Amino acid sequence: MMNDPAADLPFFYGSISRSEAEDYLKLAGMSDGLFLLRQCLRSLGGYVLSLVWNLQFHHYSVEKQMNGTYCVSGGKPHCGPAELCEYYSKDADGLVTTLRKPCLRPADTPVRAGVFDSLRDNMLREYVRQTWNLEGEAMEQAIISQAPQLEKLIATTAHEKMPWFHGKIERQEGERRLYSGAQPDGKFLVRERKESGTFALSIMYGKTVYHYQILHDKSGKYSMPEGTKFDTVWQLVEYLKMKPDGLLTVLREACVNPNCNTAATPVVPSGRRPRTNGYTPPPEAPLGACKALEGLPGDRRALPMDTSVYESPYSDPEALKEKKLFLKRDQLMIDEVELGSGNFGCVKKGVYKMRKKHIDVAIKVLKSENEKAVKDEMMKEAEIMHQLDNPYIVRMIGLCEAENLMLVMEMAASGPLNKFLSSKKDQISVENVVELMHQVSLGMRYLEENNFVHRDLAARNVLLVNQHYAKISDFGLSKALGADDNYYKARTAGKWPLKWYAPECINFHKFSSKSDVWSYGITMWEAFSYGGKPYKKMKGPEVTGFIESGKRMDCPAGCPDVMYTVMMDCWTYKHEDRPDFAKVEDRMRSYHYSISKKTPKEDNTEDASANATVAI
Ligand code: AMP
Repeated sequence: MMNDPAADLPFFYGSISRSEAEDYLKLAGMSDGLFLLRQCLRSLGGYVLSLVWNLQFHHYSVEKQMNGTYCVSGGKPHCGPAELCEYYSKDADGLVTTLRKPCLRPADTPVRAGVFDSLRDNMLREYVRQTWNLEGEAMEQAIISQAPQLEKLIATTAHEKMPWFHGKIERQEGERRLYSGAQPDGKFLVRERKESGTFALSIMYGKTVYHYQILHDKSGKYSMPEGTKFDTVWQLVEYLKMKPDGLLTVLREACVNPNCNTAATPVVPSGRRPRTNGYTPPPEAPLGACKALEGLPGDRRALPMDTSVYESPYSDPEALKEKKLFLKRDQLMIDEVELGSGNFGCVKKGVYKMRKKHIDVAIKVLKSENEKAVKDEMMKEAEIMHQLDNPYIVRMIGLCEAENLMLVMEMAASGPLNKFLSSKKDQISVENVVELMHQVSLGMRYLEENNFVHRDLAARNVLLVNQHYAKISDFGLSKALGADDNYYKARTAGKWPLKWYAPECINFHKFSSKSDVWSYGITMWEAFSYGGKPYKKMKGPEVTGFIESGKRMDCPAGCPDVMYTVMMDCWTYKHEDRPDFAKVEDRMRSYHYSISKKTPKEDNTEDASANATVAI
């Protein structure tokens, strides 16, 4: 419910039924134009506007369109439920009356969450668990960072992963499977019919199997005959577990597909199942061709979870047993290809041979002629990286002391964010930039939660695994804070990236997660200006004066206002008043979701009747 755009409206009740809505309206006096808003019972993003006129109730469906706008069927589109209600408060435009008086939700009555709100979450969880075999924190991160994409995937393919889905089997085979074993009422399965794309539901009732055709109408909706319509088969099944909607019984126990290798498969303790699960992620889609998901697994672009660097190579317990800080030189193959360089030496491409797999790595090779101080710096960087494990942070695989001291890291093949964006300006959408910057905020939130300050967050230090997957790197200046400290005090100023530093860093040498937030704002500015250089012609010290006089960089061309507001808030002068990463990530997340979420089109027949219809 927290994501519902109507959640803050005082006349919004959430998922209440039609008769409950009528009770509230009666209690509030039944005056003409008295109204309330509720979630459509099928809860697929739509609402119902309940309105009183002449002592009678009128219920209007408010549909959510493909483009994210809302409209009363046949009416004008509005950008949100609030705007829609405001419009109808001035102009009836087809309703029986204008909305005159909001029927306010009592203070002690919270907005009621819909069944699908929690269901969708569970589905998402189950899907991520099964498709990527993720658990715990990795799963939560996958869900948070990719929710809009996942919802699209789930909407179209989730039934294939369900234990009750038996694929293309004959009706007789379906019966045979249902009759084998116990025969409780409500035991069910769904099978694909010969005409591909259409489905049938087979249910046990009174020790007899009944078959129902799942109707698929022209607009792509699934339903039981004369039943409520749904966008997806799994939503229909979940609904039928709660309401018979014309069937002899509600659905209860799933008749498990014997070939189902998902839910029924126990997790193998000796390691993780391969992440194929029925499809192979496509190679990186050509730039520009990376549009919204098409639905079919083969067509979709690779999500972070499809890559080998989403989880640590040591998330496999077998591999973890062999984890050592120092890697054996003979397990490391170093390519001649240089990925980049710095004052310490260069970064080379390589492969690290683990027992079960080989992984691509980036190797920071320390120049042998370097003095001890540089070596110590690299050791400090390694010590920090060793403690971090998050999908949006470049992980260290280990150190290797051989011909040189080497720091072996996960590979982020598409390189630094600023270069990537400046070289592909025309091919990367603003939504794509939002997605990447949200991922950076997730990585930074993780650092904040774990009391690390980065101190060098900048677009050059955000590396891309691919166009849709960013990781924070370069922990050369980073510090782990003591449990009771919330800042690090540098004794002397060094070669500092002044343009990325907050006033308290420059003035008092104080570094905290809040000063990282300032740098995050600059990084955002770099990203939304597609690799532009911050404070263009100014020198570091000039920037300090510019900031002290209260000035800030302008909004990059084409950057959404909401994103510029986040940037400006990151540049709040006083660190006490600056948002933390928990807040920044929240805001990046809601904006990311709001622009990439497109709920499938709603149906406008509300609360469809549930006539008993035994089909086929
Ligand atoms: P650094 O000194 O850590 O900023 O690294 C210098 C350059 O090496 C970066 O700008 C990247 O181009 C490249 N590089 C560093 N780490 C990696 C990595 N993990 N994967 C791919 N390229 C990297």
